Amino acid sequence: MPVRFYNTMTRELEDFTPLQQGTVTMYTCGPTVYNFLHIGNLRSFLFEDLLHRWLTYRGYNVRQIMNLTDIDDKTIKGSQAKKIPLAEYTEPYKKAFFDDLKTLNFTPAEKYPSATEHIPEMVAIIEKLIAGGYAYETDDGVYFKITSFAPYGKLAHLDRDSLRAGASGRVANDEYEKETVSDFALWKKWTPGDGDVKWDSPWGEGRPGWHIECSAMSMKYLGETLDIHTGGVDNMFPHHENEIAQSEAATGKPFVRYWLHAAHLVVEGEKMAKSKGNFYTLRDLLEKGYSPRSIRYLLYTTHYRKPLNFTFDGIKAADASLKRIDDFLFTLRNVKNSGEADSALTALLKTQTEKFEAGIDEDLNIAEGMGALFELIRAVNEKMESVTTALAGEIIAFFEKIETVLGFLSLGGPGELNEEDMELIAARTAAKKNKDFARADEIRKALLAKGIEVRDTPDGPVWKRI
Ligand SMILES: [Zn+2]
Repeated sequence: MPVRFYNTMTRELEDFTPLQQGTVTMYTCGPTVYNFLHIGNLRSFLFEDLLHRWLTYRGYNVRQIMNLTDIDDKTIKGSQAKKIPLAEYTEPYKKAFFDDLKTLNFTPAEKYPSATEHIPEMVAIIEKLIAGGYAYETDDGVYFKITSFAPYGKLAHLDRDSLRAGASGRVANDEYEKETVSDFALWKKWTPGDGDVKWDSPWGEGRPGWHIECSAMSMKYLGETLDIHTGGVDNMFPHHENEIAQSEAATGKPFVRYWLHAAHLVVEGEKMAKSKGNFYTLRDLLEKGYSPRSIRYLLYTTHYRKPLNFTFDGIKAADASLKRIDDFLFTLRNVKNSGEADSALTALLKTQTEKFEAGIDEDLNIAEGMGALFELIRAVNEKMESVTTALAGEIIAFFEKIETVLGFLSLGGPGELNEEDMELIAARTAAKKNKDFARADEIRKALLAKGIEVRDTPDGPVWKRI
């Protein structure tokens, strides 16, 4: 079965085939580095991580580029308020972004280009647009003329009336609403409010608009037509609409073949906002004692086109689900039955594997995939006494394989013991053998304090993390 995606451009599910056989080019609008990542950002980025991992699982070589927006209205405002150079202001947020990616076990993109390092590429596109009659210079900048590009509005499905209304106006801000659809800024001429943030251009000193940054960086690294472009749904208009207009007007070629957008995240049923006190960065949640593992699980396992309601009960439920998987794998690792295989269970592993894969093939419906996993866990747990070591090995191998897609099982979960802990377990076994039960119990408690539970079985001690 082919992988299918819901393409925002057509509003339909489509079979996915990359332009170049075996390789997928994928551009992801990255963070604006003026703050730490919040859970809404993470939700979008994790959907993109799933997309990357799933295409890799399906045998594609994924070339993902994710930009860092280090010039826009917000970063400039922040650096000016602090009276420090832009680079000095964005640097700690760039570093924090990479730390957060690591904490949540993201698959790295091929490259994370910064806007400040691609000004000449942006200027070159703007020059092309002016030469082609798609852009014009004013006192305060260079603007894209939306009426010069007939398909303008095709992604956001703008209606003709709003286009006509906007055709007379101009908007200099990087972000604006559909209601104010207008000619938008490609280049903004320097004003005193920009402080030291400025670059030379044919139109005098100034800085690029936000939208041109993504056109320049995506096409530089991935070519003029990309397979996939992703982002949060709030980026669809104006950001992605404007990227299409700039790129297609400049090259005359289709810019993107599949547009994928992640739905909103709400917190306890409400829109997340600093003013409501329900605004959480990853760092906030870690400080509250939640594990990266359960945060990843919660944000990762809801289908990306469904709004995600983030709740603290949801994190607890994620913990419980992870514990079920951990316990299941723990039990399987300690199966000692070398008898005949139960053919029904062997068949079940096959059908559930297929269900897991079919679920995610269908527009990355990971909720469906997780459902198939838990069905497998439930059914095998019910007949655990007839699970043979061979079947247990196969099930464990399956989980190890899909961990390349999930990325949360090995994240701070049960792994290997370090040498010191292994020596403690050996010392406890030795103490028991010498009938020094007090010493054995002392060691058991010491391990327990480290979160390691040891149990004795006829085949020797087994352990798990608690
Ligand atoms: Zn972008």
